[in-house]
Amino acid sequence: MSKRKTLGGLMPGQSGYVYSIGARDEKTRHRIIEMGITPGTEITMIKTAPMGDPVEIALRGYSLSIRKADAEHILLMADDEENTLRENIKRASSDIQHKSRVKLEKGEKKADSDEAQHFRAAMLTEFMIDNVSRCDKKEMCFKNVFPDSHDKPVRLALVGNPNCGKTTLFNAMTGAREYVGNWPGVTVEKKEGKIRNELGRKGRKGSVCTHGHEMTLVDLPGIYSLSPYSTEEIIARSFVVDEKPDAIINIVDGTNIERNLYLTIQLMELEVPMIIALNMMDEVEKNGDSIDIKKLSLLLGIPVIPISARTGMGLGELAQSMRKLVFAAHTQLHEGFNIEPDDVYDDFTRLEHYKIGNVIEPFAKKAGLPLHWAKIKVLEGDKRVMERLSLDEQAKKKVDEIIREYAAADPLMDNETMVADSRYRYITNVCAQSVRKAEKNEKSDVSEKIDRILTHKWLALPIFVGIMALIFTLTFATVGAWLSDMVGVLLDETVIPAARNALVNMNAYEWFTSLVCDGIITGVGGVLTFLPQIAILFFCLSLLEDSGYMSRIAFIMDKPMRKLGLSGKSFIPLLMGFGCSVPAAMGARTVENEQDKQMTIMLVPFMSCSAKLPVYGLLAGAFFAKGRGLVIISLYVFGVLAGILSGLLFRKTVFKNNDAAFIIELPQYRFPSMKNTFLHVWERVSHFLHKAGTIIFAMSVVLWFLQNFTFALSMTAESENSILGVVGSFIAPVFTPLGFGVWQAVVALLTGFVAKEAVVSALTMFYGFSASAASNEIMAALSGTFTPVSAYSFLVFVLLYTPCIAAVTTISRELHSRKKALLLVIYQIAVAYIVSMLFYTAGTLIFGG
Ligand code: GDP
Ligand code: MG
Repeated sequence: MSKRKTLGGLMPGQSGYVYSIGARDEKTRHRIIEMGITPGTEITMIKTAPMGDPVEIALRGYSLSIRKADAEHILLMADDEENTLRENIKRASSDIQHKSRVKLEKGEKKADSDEAQHFRAAMLTEFMIDNVSRCDKKEMCFKNVFPDSHDKPVRLALVGNPNCGKTTLFNAMTGAREYVGNWPGVTVEKKEGKIRNELGRKGRKGSVCTHGHEMTLVDLPGIYSLSPYSTEEIIARSFVVDEKPDAIINIVDGTNIERNLYLTIQLMELEVPMIIALNMMDEVEKNGDSIDIKKLSLLLGIPVIPISARTGMGLGELAQSMRKLVFAAHTQLHEGFNIEPDDVYDDFTRLEHYKIGNVIEPFAKKAGLPLHWAKIKVLEGDKRVMERLSLDEQAKKKVDEIIREYAAADPLMDNETMVADSRYRYITNVCAQSVRKAEKNEKSDVSEKIDRILTHKWLALPIFVGIMALIFTLTFATVGAWLSDMVGVLLDETVIPAARNALVNMNAYEWFTSLVCDGIITGVGGVLTFLPQIAILFFCLSLLEDSGYMSRIAFIMDKPMRKLGLSGKSFIPLLMGFGCSVPAAMGARTVENEQDKQMTIMLVPFMSCSAKLPVYGLLAGAFFAKGRGLVIISLYVFGVLAGILSGLLFRKTVFKNNDAAFIIELPQYRFPSMKNTFLHVWERVSHFLHKAGTIIFAMSVVLWFLQNFTFALSMTAESENSILGVVGSFIAPVFTPLGFGVWQAVVALLTGFVAKEAVVSALTMFYGFSASAASNEIMAALSGTFTPVSAYSFLVFVLLYTPCIAAVTTISRELHSRKKALLLVIYQIAVAYIVSMLFYTAGTLIFGG
């Protein structure tokens, strides 16, 4: 007898059938199962990532990346075992199935026979898809069929897997009329938009017609399942359960239908009127696949509308069908139309969940949970639902017993796996009847070819470095820097003088002119200079994400990032931190896992931003003429080291329980859609503008005041006497152990809080030299205050202390916690202080000051 292997033991190109699924923890295990790795699933090993981990596998017609360690826990059937084992399992479970069926037929009554249900499902489906009227055919128009009394505003939830085209559909249906916010209390984006109401014109693709019926689309986060394991999933399901949208639009990727339907099945359990938007039909056709829409509708008991979010095909029909669906629901026509959700389960699962239903029914009613959903979730062992049901002791005991009985039926699976397996078996069956795949899939062939280069063992890293270098140069060096400079020049040479002139001509008070020109325009404008960089960066990131390369970056960089307890997805935001912390912190949104995202954001400020470079250049040039480059490089290295150490520290303290599984889909490569890309850039840019107009505006006013007024509230031109100067002098002794306990240095650091470049302008102002002067002149000017050792210590402090206001406000916004942002600032100042002091003390000991 041959031996069982693990999935991790497969060589590239080899396949096997899953025997059992183990995992290092429950969460990972659950993720693995819901991505479709259930006992009996065929899996092919595609390749190992360039650095030896993770691996790419293919199953159910799609590619998945999973860490080697997790793959080691998945046991595959032994060759000779495969057939007999599967037979045995089938026989064993069909035994149980048979017994359950007999029991079901004898005892448990079902509301209706299967046939009647399917008939009703068919009726609804035909009503939905065959009867869709073109808007230009008056007699068939929906409005003429149904009275207007049902023109209530309607709220629809858009639910689907990540990457199935949700954003594209949302944008196509709502146009620009959207509202972007966040779900209360969590950092997951919330988008709402009104569906456009354009009268469909003949021959125009993509016209949406709602007959003036107000429909709001709520974009729920992209999810794979409705398990209670991630914030996104909990949001999605509590939205549907508690906020009760009128209907769900479940968007399904037609090229990846099997995996996508897993979510569909779970949405059915929620018993909310639902419609499936079968997306990417253009691609399905191109691939030569065919999907029998009607059959699929009937089998699922849900209307299926084929669409292409990208070309706009079918969107009009979708809007029409949604109206009908909502109408049917409002008029109770809908009741019983959908297939009973428990029809998807095998007989044994059904029997057991009936039993649970008998126990929990009153509790579910009291808690206001859909009964079917509560039943199956309890059988799955969903702790959140259990808590909400608040069962009494007796009921709890009964439920536990049923679950134990259920799990005991199959030695290879526990209750959770069995429910998942039951769903997937139903899906496999549905797909077998309605989907026909072409022999050869050109698109995935192309993707495979691209991947052969982009994730090639030796080429992957150089290509990746090249692409990053390109984005970096575009953003921070060439185009981005040029545009930023233009904004700066425009402000300094045109806007500010013009404003000053205008104000002087109007005989405005001097303080007012100063406030507007030196405070507001300089402060807000200084931040606006980042705008071009942000726009370019997000343009590039959006291309990476839309094309599918972003997942490959995570695939390539996961191994080194894991040493920090992060995953491959955190790499790009951290890299961007070397340019500017503002877009970098915003870029961390691509990290899905909440904890990883927050930690990534908190590490961003340790990557020395480009605005600090002028400070390094000034002091290193003056005090370390020969070793200038070396000094600057050492600062960058110390920044990264401090980041790594802080990361390890955060892992041990703030973000302790990170066990997020790294299981990501590697989608097929697609050509990015420019419309989506520009909308994405605009979304980010407008957020940023909003911030510049509010928080930064206020902060600029406050700082201007502190810099220009004395404690007696009279205006002063001497920085030393201003509130900031006095406070600086007061704080100065604190910095004596660091070697720069003078008010000038301290005030320079304080202004650095506005913008790092300001450190340079403050020093030039206080010491009376020009930043472009020869380095020995600068050294002469500064030598009263700094020695080489204290200059280095000052630079280390600049490197590590708090980022500028723009960055801090962005970080606070992205973390959704002022407290965390404040703690980060305090932490950084403390680290900067300690490290600088160490450097200064050691330096003085070695070089004698
Ligand atoms: P989301 O992650 O669900 O929001 O998906 P996106 O809307 O970002 O789409 C993912 C990718 O699929 C993008 O590259 C889209 O351009 C592409 N896409 C979306 N809808 C369609 C479609 O109908 N046809 C094709 N060919 N591509 C599509
Ligand atoms: Mg999206």
